[in-house]
Amino acid sequence: MLASLAAIIFMTQPNPQDLLAQVDQARLRATVETLSSFTTRNTNSPELTNACEWIAGEFRKIPGCEVEIMRYPVTASRRITRDMEVVQVIATLKGETDDIVMMGGHIDSLNLEVDAETGRAPGANDDASGVAASLETCRILAGQKRRNTLKFVAFSGEEQGLLGSTALAKRAKAEGWKVQAVLSNDTVGSSSNLAGQKNDKQVRVFSEEGEGHHSRELARYIEWLVNHEVKDFSIKLVFRRDRFGRGGDHTPFVAEGFNAVRFVEVHEEYTRQHTPNDVIDHMDFAYLAKVTQANVSSLSSLGDARPGPAQLRVQRADNHQSHLTWKADEGTSYVVFWRDTTSPTWQGAKVVGAVGETTLDMNVDDHTFAIGSLGGIPVAQQG
Ligand SMILES: [Zn+2]
Repeated sequence: MLASLAAIIFMTQPNPQDLLAQVDQARLRATVETLSSFTTRNTNSPELTNACEWIAGEFRKIPGCEVEIMRYPVTASRRITRDMEVVQVIATLKGETDDIVMMGGHIDSLNLEVDAETGRAPGANDDASGVAASLETCRILAGQKRRNTLKFVAFSGEEQGLLGSTALAKRAKAEGWKVQAVLSNDTVGSSSNLAGQKNDKQVRVFSEEGEGHHSRELARYIEWLVNHEVKDFSIKLVFRRDRFGRGGDHTPFVAEGFNAVRFVEVHEEYTRQHTPNDVIDHMDFAYLAKVTQANVSSLSSLGDARPGPAQLRVQRADNHQSHLTWKADEGTSYVVFWRDTTSPTWQGAKVVGAVGETTLDMNVDDHTFAIGSLGGIPVAQQG
């Protein structure tokens, strides 16, 4: 099993360990410092536009990065004071194909205790942390030849009902974007809460199952990859759409049929969120660096992956073995994954190469199998 894992790591280009080592805590802190120094980044405030222009400028400094300021209309509602046009930022690292892997955080902030347009809303952890992780991941993955196109988004309107992510998800659907995966990072920069709970070794990834998408298979793959590639860090999977009564920017993408998951720290401090106390002093940048590494690992892998296989069939072979067949694409190398039927996570994987079938010395009754293109989201056996 270790040998096959080494093969996965070895065959992914460039070497993920070299990329992970480049994640820089000081740069993450600098981004959060600047973002949280805007009086507010509330979607209703002109300061949001200023913050978007600043982050767009940071993305523009990255060689090969194309930056778009996307505008979308919003109408007066509970947390939107008037009809207006709002901006958000999309940064793109073009790949050889138009298959897209997307990562984002929301740039808008909220303080429910003050005036929406003028009151102080630092929003350091929620969610300058996710925007900083996205900018840092873009910096690290820039300048490399990659099969797929990577997009990094600073969403706005999140706190007013996922307005920016909804606008982008609908646009992606309408324009036929081939979005393979969306990784939303929202509140990922603190490892402890006021109840004395601490966990700086894991980040939660929320995912749901549903029609038209394989978000849970995306989550399961991220868990497998990060647990093996990122030192002293792992993914805590949560098989739910999001936290109780809460939402995030992954959900509008799921609704449009795309694979999308949400990263969030393990022990949130709910009393600081949406208050003037969401400040940089409560953050843990060594932890945010680990979460960023998990994203770098995921985007590096998914960003190079070819499409997954079609028509996976699993059958009993020779009594005690399992025979898997699938429709292979020429030149695509495949990986087989397996787990006990009761295990939520993949327990083993083996690179089988550019073939369309394999036989495993495992009982077909007792396992769930999947086949993935090398570095891509595995396609799981049904039933
Ligand atoms: Zn948030």
